[in-house]
Amino acid sequence: MKRKAFIGIDMGGTHSRLCVLDKDKNILHLEKLLTLKLISNGLIEGISSLIDENVHRLNVKVERVIIGLPATISKDRTSVLSTPNLKVDAHEFDSLVSSLESQLNCKVELERDVNLQLAYDVEALKLTDKNVIGCYVGTGFGFSVWINNDIYVGANGVAGEIGHIPYGDDGKVCGCGKKGCLETLVSGTQLKHEYESQNASYPISDFFSQQSNQSYIDRLVANLAKAIVTSVNLFDLMLSYWVEGLLT
Ligand SMILES: [Zn+2]
Repeated sequence: MKRKAFIGIDMGGTHSRLCVLDKDKNILHLEKLLTLKLISNGLIEGISSLIDENVHRLNVKVERVIIGLPATISKDRTSVLSTPNLKVDAHEFDSLVSSLESQLNCKVELERDVNLQLAYDVEALKLTDKNVIGCYVGTGFGFSVWINNDIYVGANGVAGEIGHIPYGDDGKVCGCGKKGCLETLVSGTQLKHEYESQNASYPISDFFSQQSNQSYIDRLVANLAKAIVTSVNLFDLMLSYWVEGLLT
C-alpha cells in the first residue's frame, strides 16, 4: 500500500518551492526552482508534471495539495482574482484546481501565501488562541489576520490586502496597476529599486546595515510602522506579530 502524502507548493515571483510531507509531517522531498522555468511550458503543464514526477518517484498517494500564491484568491479557493506580484495572468489559474483534482483524485486548494505563512507561525509559536497580524515584506507587502482561531478571509476571500490601500507614492504605479498603493513605499520591489539606483558595490542583503543612517531606510521603517500601528488599532489586537520576509 502506498504511503499517504501531502503536497505544498509555494509559487513566488522569482522562485517556487515544492514540499512533500507524509501524514506525520515528515518531509519526504523539498525542492526549489525558478518560477519561470516551472511555467515555461504553461502553468498547468508545469505544476502537473512537477507533482507527477515526484509522486511516481516517491511512490506515494497524494491526499491533498495546497498551492500558495502572492495573489488574491476567490472565496472558494479555486481561482485567482489578481496576481500583482506574479508574472502569470490570473486567468491562467482558471482550470488548474480542477485539472489537478482529476489527475490526483484529491482535494486541491489555492491560498494566499501570507495566510499560509501566518497559519504556520501561529501554530509554531503557540499563538493560536491569540489575535495576531502577520506583516511580511517580500516582493510586495504581505499582510494576514488571525482572529478567533482561524485566518480571517473576509466576505469575498480577499481580506488583508493592506499593501494595496491608497497610502503610498501617488507618482508610482503599483504591481496591481493602480497608482499610489502602500506597496509603492513599503515592499521588497521598492527596496530593490532603491538599491539598484545607488549602484552599490555590496549585495542587497547588506542594504540595511550599509544604509542604516540614510533617510531612505528611515522613511521605509516609518511607513512600515505606520501601517502596522494602523492595523493594530483597526483590529483592536492584544498582540501583534511581525516577521520580516526575504527577497526571494
Ligand atoms: Zn497595488
